[in-house]
Amino acid sequence: MTHKTKFTRLLALCMLAGLYLSQTVAVQAQAAQDEEIQKMVGEVSADNLRTLVEKMVSFETRHSLSSTTDKKRGIGAAREWVKSEFEKYAKASNGRMTVDMDRYIVKGDGRRIPQDVEMANVVATLKGADPNDDRVIIVAGHLDSRATDVMDAKSKAPGANDDASGVAIVMEMARVMASRQFPATLVFVAFQGEEQGLYGSRHMAERVKKEGWNLVAVLNNDIVGNSYSAEMGIHDNTRVRVFSEATPSNETEEQARLRRTLGSENDGPSRNLARYMKMTGEAYVDQIEVVLGYRPDRFLRGGDHTPFNQQGYAAVRMSEMNEDFDHQHQDVRKENGKQYGDLTEFMDFEYLRKNTAVNLATMANLGRAPQTPEKVGVLTANLTNKTDLKWDAPTKGKKPAGYYILMRETSSQTWDKKFFVKDTKVTLPYSKDNYFFAVQSADELGHTSLPVLPVPVRQ
Ligand SMILES: [Zn+2]
Repeated sequence: MTHKTKFTRLLALCMLAGLYLSQTVAVQAQAAQDEEIQKMVGEVSADNLRTLVEKMVSFETRHSLSSTTDKKRGIGAAREWVKSEFEKYAKASNGRMTVDMDRYIVKGDGRRIPQDVEMANVVATLKGADPNDDRVIIVAGHLDSRATDVMDAKSKAPGANDDASGVAIVMEMARVMASRQFPATLVFVAFQGEEQGLYGSRHMAERVKKEGWNLVAVLNNDIVGNSYSAEMGIHDNTRVRVFSEATPSNETEEQARLRRTLGSENDGPSRNLARYMKMTGEAYVDQIEVVLGYRPDRFLRGGDHTPFNQQGYAAVRMSEMNEDFDHQHQDVRKENGKQYGDLTEFMDFEYLRKNTAVNLATMANLGRAPQTPEKVGVLTANLTNKTDLKWDAPTKGKKPAGYYILMRETSSQTWDKKFFVKDTKVTLPYSKDNYFFAVQSADELGHTSLPVLPVPVRQ
């Protein structure tokens, strides 16, 4: 079904239900389409994803405390293989993609790390094509796996879904994107140490902060390849969750005061990154709905986006809609004829393909967009039923062709309507008291930056 017919059907449904569309359109405003992003999305292959996951499973365990010297079994061999695959993809990049093994020492804590251990993240970096654009976007999954006992580094821990699925997304994206140009720098990472306590992502988030990267988004993928919950009898490969924190973990007192005044507790940078992912992913990928999870993560669970949130960066987590806990963090075994363990046979590679495509479309659209507008303000000097917005063009990166103003009712979860303007100010015939607004920079092909919410200004 094309997007046009999707829209028409929705419209028809709304009419049938007697919901006449007047001022605002009761569907989500969608991202514009770029033919080359469509082409990249089309190159994502379910077969490749299966091959990648099967290879990761073949290392038997990728536990963070497993062998780093065995050539065939353990985390060391798995890391080397991811690195060699990245190096293969990098050949298509004309030297723009570089591959590193980022090693770090994790101190023994007497709990999940018995003694000091060296870990490593495998990182492929596709350098931005515009030297004047310093933005960085990260897509990540974790390479390490576990059995029932988190300290068991010996037993089989195939980790097909948790989280070879996430790493397969990262690798397949690196393969498809390596030959393409993006003004922003794209970073593809397989973290280690997630199951022992988010060590790889913490190491990277601290490094990013220390080195002052302009990191605009982190897409973390963890448990993204199973579409069947035996417990609930639900089979659904058309929905995927994206979790995001509502407001920044490192919010200051002053920011909190402003948030309470504006009622913007549902509009932190990570929440708006999740909306961007929904808007873009659903525009480019058919038969997938991105379900916005209005919390940082699931109960009792954490993930590699969290250390980035703690350092103040926009970071979200994608996870499948219906998890199957018989195939997560379980020793591979049969009990009463039932198979336990995180095995490839329980995965759905067509579902994983769609989830990869959602990540790819998001990263490509954002990577090709101009930088965000600056000093975005809403004029509050006068009582009026209109909305006056103004902002400055970004000072770095390519010059925007114009700007999209996003608008939604204060009770709506996604942006309902958008306006295009070429100027850096606009007066809209809608009351600022009744809607939320945000401004995105856009280029001539409609690639859009993340939205920026206006702050009240007097003039
Ligand atoms: Zn995981």
